[in-house]
Amino acid sequence: MRIDVVSIFPAYLAALDLSLVGKARTAGLLDLRVHDLRDWTTDRHRTVDDTPAGGGAGMVMRPDVWGTALDDVLTEGATLVVPTPSGPSFTQRTAEEWATRPQLVFACGRYEGIDARVAEHYRSAGVRVEEASIGDYVLNGGEVAALVMIEAVARLLPGVLGNPESVVEESHSVAGLLEYPVYTKPPTWRDLEVPPVLMSGHHGKVARWRRDQAIERTAARRPDMVAALDVDSLDKKDRAL
Ligand code: SAM
Repeated sequence: MRIDVVSIFPAYLAALDLSLVGKARTAGLLDLRVHDLRDWTTDRHRTVDDTPAGGGAGMVMRPDVWGTALDDVLTEGATLVVPTPSGPSFTQRTAEEWATRPQLVFACGRYEGIDARVAEHYRSAGVRVEEASIGDYVLNGGEVAALVMIEAVARLLPGVLGNPESVVEESHSVAGLLEYPVYTKPPTWRDLEVPPVLMSGHHGKVARWRRDQAIERTAARRPDMVAALDVDSLDKKDRAL
């Protein structure tokens, strides 16, 4: 998969060289390219913004600079991702869907955001344009939002996680439950013990305990997720909880 990020602060994206995403790049599983939007400016001051049409506070990013940049970066079949607090929520389902796309291009806004004609133009030109919010709060720019979305997508690409099974039971996986609590060694730490069933070596009991814990935890913390569960996916013991 190819991912491009266009930003006026390319240094923000340096974290993509680290950890699993960095390894995926080195291994050739992910072709990740970071671009400086100002490389597409034509004036001496490398201007990317201007005053808002209609007046008001702040500055807005100019469509002409974004247009020349995106014309160069978008390839056939690309998805243009525009992070914005006014977009639909980015979720694990979104990450799963985007992980199947050939190219994602992240347009990182700053100031009051990007002139709305940019999304409109590419949409009407037949490009898949996805506006997406990572939560109900406002950041200073799209870079951190892009980092969040790229990490969530990249870990789903084939070969990126050492053990692909790790994503199956995770919180927000297709099972629709939060993950059960996890433990490791030592068996006792500050008078707190690993639940004995996890030390029993009995795979069936461990699986049942984990499932019960996942359901209890989801019910306590995210009743909205329980309400959205597919009842047919629950067994008799699940329903008793
Ligand atoms: N004036 C905009 C509004 O009220 O919707 C907020 C602009 S914000 C200060 C600047 C940029 O940060 C946005 O263009 C977007 O790229 C990014 N951003 C801020 N919050 C975000 C969020 N929750 N999700 C995704 N991107 C966000």
